[in-house]
Amino acid sequence: MVAACIAQLRPLRLSSQRVDLALAAGRVLAQPLIADRDQPPFARSTRDGYACRASQASSHLPLAVVGSSRAGEAPAGPLPPHAAWEIMTGAPVPEGADAVIMLEHVELAQRQVRLLPPRTVKPGDNIVSQGVQAREGDELLPAGTQIQFGQIALAAACGYAALDVFVRPRVAILTTGDELTPVESSPGPGQIRNSNAPMLAAMVAAAGGDPLILPTAADNAQSLDSALAQAARADMLLISGGVSAGKFDLVEPALARAGARFHFTGVRIQPGKPLVFCELPIRSSGIIQNENSTKCFGLPGNPVSSAVTFLLFAAPVLAALAGSSQSPPRFAWARFAAPAGKHSKKDLTRFLPAFCSFRTMAGSLPEVSLIPMQGSGDLPALARSNCFLVIPEGAPPIDAGAIVRILLT
Ligand code: AMP
Ligand code: MG
Repeated sequence: MVAACIAQLRPLRLSSQRVDLALAAGRVLAQPLIADRDQPPFARSTRDGYACRASQASSHLPLAVVGSSRAGEAPAGPLPPHAAWEIMTGAPVPEGADAVIMLEHVELAQRQVRLLPPRTVKPGDNIVSQGVQAREGDELLPAGTQIQFGQIALAAACGYAALDVFVRPRVAILTTGDELTPVESSPGPGQIRNSNAPMLAAMVAAAGGDPLILPTAADNAQSLDSALAQAARADMLLISGGVSAGKFDLVEPALARAGARFHFTGVRIQPGKPLVFCELPIRSSGIIQNENSTKCFGLPGNPVSSAVTFLLFAAPVLAALAGSSQSPPRFAWARFAAPAGKHSKKDLTRFLPAFCSFRTMAGSLPEVSLIPMQGSGDLPALARSNCFLVIPEGAPPIDAGAIVRILLT
């Protein structure tokens, strides 16, 4: 269902904006990145040494050093016969030379240089030829690419001082619950601090959205109705709490009153079973053209449930709204370390907070251990985890050493 919704979103035209290159990390490219010149733009030496003809250097005869090039100088040459040209890393290789012999591998006497036997060189050694990485006019990255340090470096090399990126989708976060107090205030008896609002805001920002935390709604119809009306202009709405079967779980009826089109109202996972996915028919003045619905998830309020359902279901929809061609969630394989035992449930796939060590030896998988957890409200367990161990429905007990799947955060 989520996949079908994403497929619908993919062809949509998203708005873009121009941002300085320095501010583009974490954004999504709205334009293809084009090479404005060959990369490298000239045959470049990768070593300090002497540019020469490989066949002559390999005969170990002394070659006259007839010039010198440092990085930043225009290409020199041509290289006369039986000559070498002193060259620094990053400098253009003079025309006529086909290899660079390293400073450390030569003997230099009376302006003559000789490659020390038994070493030889081949044409192309220690040279990156012009255009082998990219040709002028090549599309180097398509629109939809996530911008990180490598893309920033490439954009800079190609002369992009600013980049067109997609406007971040606005994601309203509505926490619900009479028991919630803001982080700044001291909770009264029976109250707890609202930890889902900042947690979800952080998850939204990390997934490329622009989070907007709405005032917490109380567990009554009136409060929920007016809160839902406020969320109208968002591209996505995340509601936390109030979707279970309890007497004060009033979110689903409120969504129905707001005209929601429900895709599903439960999933076979634990934690997170009561997850709701719907679309609210609210005209958005937001980034999506020809689109008149706010994608809405009702996440179960327990923090571990909210986190897991966000990663599995909301993050992929958010990535599509953000114009990203990457599709979360991300899974990996790991070797199960501890504690062994039966962790599965009959009809539910489980996602349990776990810690994976990626400091592995060659040829071995990362090692993952379960973090002991006292229910899905266990914030210390959540905060000590860096992934979730996936336990398929009805799976047999897991032995130490078994290969298991993890959901990356
Ligand atoms: P609910 O889904 O509303 O039934 O809530 C399930 C559990 O999660 C309850 O113990 C709530 O107190 C807790 N909870 C709900 N919302 C939040 C929140 N925003 N921050 C922390 N805990 C919450
Ligand atoms: Mg509640």
